Amino acid sequence: MPNATIRKPSSKSSSNGVASGGSNGFTPHIISGKATPSKLQAHKMVFYFGSTRTEGNAGLKALLGGKGANLADMCQIGLPVPPGFTITTDTCAAYYRAGQRLPVGLMNEVHKYVNQLEKETGKKFGSAENPLLVSVRSGAAVSMPGMMDTILNLGLTDAAVEGLAKVTGNRRFAYDSYRRLINMFGDVVMGVDHERFEHAFDHIKAKYKAATDTDVPEQGIVELCEAYKEVFRKKVGETFPQNPFKQLELAIEAVFKSWNGERAVAYRRLSNIQGLHGTAVNIQTMVFGNMGEDSGTGVAFTRNPSTGDNKFYGEFLINAQGEDVVAGIRTPISCDEMPKWNKTVYGQLLKIKGKLEKHYREMQDIEFTIERGRLYMLQTRTGKRTGFAAVKIACDMVKEKLITEKQALVRIPAGDLTQLLLPSFDPTKKKLATLLARGLPASPGAAVGKPAFTAADAVKRKQNGESVILVRKETSPEDVEGMHKAAGILTSTGGMTSHAAVVARGWGKCCVVGAGDLHIDAKNETITVRGKVITRHDVISIDGSTGEVMVGAIPTVEPKLSGDFSTIMRWSDKYRRLQIRTNADTPADARRARDFGAIGIGLCRTEHMFFEGQRIKSVRKMILAETREEREEYLAELLPHQRDDFVGIFTAMKGLPVTIRLIDPPLHEFLPQDEKSQAELARAMGVTPEKVRQRVAQLHEANPMLGHRGCRLCVTFPEILVMQVRAIVEAMLDCVANGIKAMPEIMHPLVGSRKELEWLRRMTLETIDAVKKEKGWQKRIDIPIGTMIEVPRAALTADEIAHEAEFFSFGTNDLTQMTFGYSRDDINTFLPDYLHKELLDADPFQTIDQSGVGQLVRMGLERGRATNPKLKVGICGEHGGDPKSVHFFHRAGLDYVSCSPYRVPIARLAAAQAVILAESNK
Ligand code: PEP
Ligand code: MG
Repeated sequence: MPNATIRKPSSKSSSNGVASGGSNGFTPHIISGKATPSKLQAHKMVFYFGSTRTEGNAGLKALLGGKGANLADMCQIGLPVPPGFTITTDTCAAYYRAGQRLPVGLMNEVHKYVNQLEKETGKKFGSAENPLLVSVRSGAAVSMPGMMDTILNLGLTDAAVEGLAKVTGNRRFAYDSYRRLINMFGDVVMGVDHERFEHAFDHIKAKYKAATDTDVPEQGIVELCEAYKEVFRKKVGETFPQNPFKQLELAIEAVFKSWNGERAVAYRRLSNIQGLHGTAVNIQTMVFGNMGEDSGTGVAFTRNPSTGDNKFYGEFLINAQGEDVVAGIRTPISCDEMPKWNKTVYGQLLKIKGKLEKHYREMQDIEFTIERGRLYMLQTRTGKRTGFAAVKIACDMVKEKLITEKQALVRIPAGDLTQLLLPSFDPTKKKLATLLARGLPASPGAAVGKPAFTAADAVKRKQNGESVILVRKETSPEDVEGMHKAAGILTSTGGMTSHAAVVARGWGKCCVVGAGDLHIDAKNETITVRGKVITRHDVISIDGSTGEVMVGAIPTVEPKLSGDFSTIMRWSDKYRRLQIRTNADTPADARRARDFGAIGIGLCRTEHMFFEGQRIKSVRKMILAETREEREEYLAELLPHQRDDFVGIFTAMKGLPVTIRLIDPPLHEFLPQDEKSQAELARAMGVTPEKVRQRVAQLHEANPMLGHRGCRLCVTFPEILVMQVRAIVEAMLDCVANGIKAMPEIMHPLVGSRKELEWLRRMTLETIDAVKKEKGWQKRIDIPIGTMIEVPRAALTADEIAHEAEFFSFGTNDLTQMTFGYSRDDINTFLPDYLHKELLDADPFQTIDQSGVGQLVRMGLERGRATNPKLKVGICGEHGGDPKSVHFFHRAGLDYVSCSPYRVPIARLAAAQAVILAESNK
């Protein structure tokens, strides 16, 4: 049986060591830095690595891919690596440029490098005496877990297999390796359905009355090779290639092709990996972990990737091939058990852990093989980790003096902090829950949903608004779309390094693997555990931090933040320049955001308050009113509620500034659209249902987002402005009377011209004055008045508008909508196509479009400040909590960003990273 090479998911860290991406994958991967090859290297198609000579290094990730560059690097630092060579990513790009043809001269180079490998290993490609076998594996600059193709045992032919039998003294092993090559080559390179090979194997097993593959005797395996060759010939129309170089050429091409395979393209889209032009191909001497009880294979992390604990953490299998560890076919043994099996190898691995961490100053994810007691390193890369682990490892490495505070900060993908802030299961409620099974805690989190047994079903049901847990025996790269959509992932086989575990951890998705008690019947859509049957209609809860699988929906509780988290926040505050505010409409949100470190509210959307309890009735009556007097009567009903809301928020913010935005949405949004509710409203108001229906029809707009909304409402109905401003001032005075400092700021939405704001400002000031007089208030009342900049015209005429404003806050949601002309509510109908075809780099409503919308931000800021140098400028659209956008707002020179409470820590860290990156780019 072949091999030791393990195909496994890998890191998303970029070559320059900067955390790129996050669990949400909003941030594209950065490939840059010192990875620029020299002129000579730029034309080189192939790079050698081995003990005799190594041409590449870790700096050449863009050219050699992550795997290739690190293999070279491990050779450079003297680790035991089977020799090989790497074909560059540029060569893959050239292959596509040439209309999918291998570049001229490539195979000559490959011949030369195989010769060199032969010299170093003393073996010969295709030899009937002592054959050289190689693995052919993909490896892009950003690794993509199992998404591209791998071929093992390449070089075996009818003649070479006899050679392998001779040198290993194990004919069964040799033929087993050969049948695996024919299967893998047939499947991956020539597109022969794997099932056809399975079928042939079943036939042989039946003939030899063998229960499992390993029970088939040598003769059976020899016959199996013949049967496989026949399957190959029938399906491909040619015999299995007996020229090893022909095998190699076809395999190289297959790896190039897999770069644009469905799985790889989907993974790049879901993980927002852009800007890469191809995969490298690594051709490496095979070593075998399945040569007997003194051989083995494993994968490990230099620290625990789930918790961050500084402890070598891995799994291995004795007498096994690498694929077995990752695919979850056999559940592996923890490396803690390894000393009992081979103490020397365990000691060597621990030494290598230290050496690698000292060299890379980063947690590494390694693959290794032991061939007859001899350890080989097959791969190292920056290990994917959970948000918890990222924070702990960063803090620990600073303590261990491996990295500086600044390096620690840029290493943590800011978006991954969300994982630390997410709720976990309420322990008291969890105690009462029925435990269904226990698996391995592969990726923390608390997920609740109904089982989906296929990835496609998970995608479909999620789209229909259902929360689903993807339940599989094991996951494979084909499942990524469903894994991404599911609330959590649950498998019955596989270990902590299985495909499901690694992918889930990378995305920060809750995942439990290896819950062996679960009998999953995907066909009948049931999970059976000790007689209990769970169907697709039953809700289950999975705890990714403990591995528990439970029946029903368990309630969750808020997290307790660790000391390391506070350390990261403290360091972030030390380095950042941008201030972080929050978008909050309730005292509870305000308090949470303050606890997370917000230094004010940047957006309090007052209309949200209109929906609560009985108030919506007054709002509706106000909208239906026919005269100003009538409207004022209903607004008077609303006033005390609105005032109390503001008192609550000012109290929660303890003297920090609170930017209150006046009413924004079109009025029809407040009215019932269905007949029954319209009739109820009519009854409450003592009018006919017809009247309500007519008013609803009257308020209907063809383009409500561009219609009667924002400040336009207050222009038409100034009494709304008067009520809201009155509520703000009265709340402020109430607070002051009770010894609470209140700092409101009044913000007008959707302003597009100076005249508009001038008018609104006058109305606002008059109302403030009126309340002041009425209350007999003698002292000054300082309430800054400003505007949102969310209409492109406002950005273009910001110099004029700034005459009337003490602050600007960019409403980048509307600004994006109006700049692109994309409806923010309907973009999903076409966004997937735009992302898929790479017509957009990212969803512009999540990550700011720097060159378009960003230009308006820069212009608005510059023109506004030209008129009013003291103008305070912030942003309160969704982009305020997106790390990449925060970097842009820092560079643009804004004073603050405002985001939802849970994203405040993300914004704090991202703002610090922006400063550190700007320094390092100087
Ligand atoms: C915006 O448009 O960016 C904004 C914050 O306002 P809203 O999302 O409420 O329209
Ligand atoms: Mg808006």
